[in-house]
Amino acid sequence: MPCEVLRVDPVSPSPDVIARAAAVVRAGGLVAFPTETVYGLGANALDPAAVARIFTAKGRPAANPLIVHVAEIADARTMVAAWSDLAQRLAERFWPGPLTLVLPKHSSVPDPVTAGGPTVALRIPAHPVALALLRACGLPLAAPSANRSTELSPTEAGHVLRGLADRIDLLLDARPTMGGLESTVLDLTTTPPRLLRPGLVTITQLEALLGPIARAPSDPAQPVRSPGQMARHYAPQTLLEVVTHSRDRVEVLCGQGRRVGWLTHHTSEKIDSANVLRILMPAEPVSYSAQLYAALHRLDDLGLHCIVVETPPSGDDWLAVHDRLRRASTEYHQP
Ligand code: AMP
Ligand code: MG
Repeated sequence: MPCEVLRVDPVSPSPDVIARAAAVVRAGGLVAFPTETVYGLGANALDPAAVARIFTAKGRPAANPLIVHVAEIADARTMVAAWSDLAQRLAERFWPGPLTLVLPKHSSVPDPVTAGGPTVALRIPAHPVALALLRACGLPLAAPSANRSTELSPTEAGHVLRGLADRIDLLLDARPTMGGLESTVLDLTTTPPRLLRPGLVTITQLEALLGPIARAPSDPAQPVRSPGQMARHYAPQTLLEVVTHSRDRVEVLCGQGRRVGWLTHHTSEKIDSANVLRILMPAEPVSYSAQLYAALHRLDDLGLHCIVVETPPSGDDWLAVHDRLRRASTEYHQP
């Protein structure tokens, strides 16, 4: 049965709608809701049965732990065995916002949330709907992205319904999310702290506060400490190639009679062919991030032979974009 969908204002959500969603969470249900990054699939983080339903709905491997969302720093502190000065400084600077902190977990955090591990990932989201829901239910919410495991993350309600319509109880539709890519995940259990997943808070911003941090290996075949960093992830159904000189590649494919989606940030590059669907991407990382998943979802719906992406610019501010494209692609060229 398709889930209930309730429209909600993204800036000042109706208390009635939020109360309804909070009741579903308290009853052990699954609620998809907007955050400032992507749509999340939330359940009561303190209820192992509710958390288990997240894994089933997403087809998520049990070894991939969940991020716990809370409303206040005080709530985050109840979820950890030890809260450090560093955690406090980062929380004060970046929360509410797209930074997830990995810390030693408190014994009250159920095992399925942390995939049985000794650490818990925490953040306060910056979206008014997410915050209102957290406050109304008075519970921490375990909430991964609201998509089937390995697939593209949802940046609008329609994307959530495509993968999960008959697997969740309620969807709060607050129009497209602003950030478009997932949060940055930072491990505070190591010295120096280690970046486990690049995201909307950039390395430049973190290092301005912390000094040098350790980076996750850029090669996805390398072992990493974050169990969820699978090599294939965030991927459309359609084959995806990331290449430099993408115009040449698109022309070759077109010449073979293929229908091709083309993402490029080079305004001047065009190909006049009905077989090419070109989406012009911003040449600036924040806007590129915000639009990437929506562009890939749109092309993925068209049954194309493949999607060709022009390699985005290099530099720390583009790390998250490169990370997601690398995991989404069958072929990836370094900048
Ligand atoms: P998602 O919410 O689906 O975007 O994925 C959450 C990300 O956070 C995944 O990459 C997880 O592996 C990572 N994560 C969650 N909990 C932990 C943890 N305790 N230690 C390390 N990484 C974590
Ligand atoms: Mg995800």
